Amino acid sequence: MTANTSFVVPAPRQPSIPVAGEAGTFPVRRIWCVGRNYLEHIREMGNDERDPPFFFAKHADMIVPDGATVPYPPLTRDLHHEVELVVALKSGGLNIPADKALDHVYGYAVGIDLTRRDLQQASRKKERPWEIGKSFDNSAPCGALQPAGRIGHPAKGRIWLSVNGTERQAGDLTELIWNVPEIIAKLSEQVALAAGDIIMTGTPAGVAALAPGDAIECGIDGVGTLRVTIGPAA
Ligand code: MN
Repeated sequence: MTANTSFVVPAPRQPSIPVAGEAGTFPVRRIWCVGRNYLEHIREMGNDERDPPFFFAKHADMIVPDGATVPYPPLTRDLHHEVELVVALKSGGLNIPADKALDHVYGYAVGIDLTRRDLQQASRKKERPWEIGKSFDNSAPCGALQPAGRIGHPAKGRIWLSVNGTERQAGDLTELIWNVPEIIAKLSEQVALAAGDIIMTGTPAGVAALAPGDAIECGIDGVGTLRVTIGPAA
């Protein structure tokens, strides 16, 4: 990166995600996440099945790559895994129609929306924002992107996550309540989307607690896999 002497403190690094088969990487601008997008997960959390989806955000520098060790985060006693299909945008705009939404997709990856569940639930009860539960250092593991030009736009395929070799989460992309074009259309009503934005599209049932030393492996058929280890407390 070129030094820019006009900044009064060191400029932050540009977070990025590797792209399978490419030397170049995908620069991350914003990370959006969809809440409640698989019926069985809504049921396991005791939430209303008829609610429309909603969005929350993580920061771009919370991305961690495939193979990383994630320190067990502070403040929580209930760190949960949520395996998700990640959509990466090459362009954007406001009010994107669903039937044009896939034109803006660069590619797809497997990600984990790490969640401090105890803090998320406490903030929900107090009607406070979700940041303390969702938006923390290293909370967005993400595998290599697969360009849509190579794999197409996956609308079906098994999505799964195992911990220490035991499967915990399993579902299929066909079970997404709001599909990828609908998610992009809906989110673009709220903010202008742009190249570099990624969207984590919600998790199937089976979310559960992680402990230091746990080895997580997850994947989506046709998209790829992701491995992360939980390390000792930060
Ligand atoms: Mn999630």
